Amino acid sequence: MDCKDLVEKLYFYLDGEVLTEEERRAIEEHLALCRKCCERYEFERLLWDMVRHNGQNDHVPEALIARIEGVIAQF
Ligand SMILES: [Zn+2]
Repeated sequence: MDCKDLVEKLYFYLDGEVLTEEERRAIEEHLALCRKCCERYEFERLLWDMVRHNGQNDHVPEALIARIEGVIAQF
């Protein structure tokens, strides 16, 4: 698994149901080794939680959006 594969599968991973056991393990191994993807994962997870818990489409803090965009721009 390389960084591109991981980014493509990250949302499935966050969703927690779509991937096979093997794919999940490959993602976890990559996250443990690759700091860049690990950081991205942390941000995506944060965003994911926010979307899930705020079904109302509440205001997302601008500082958080800026940080997420900064991380995404590294790819
Ligand atoms: Zn990576």
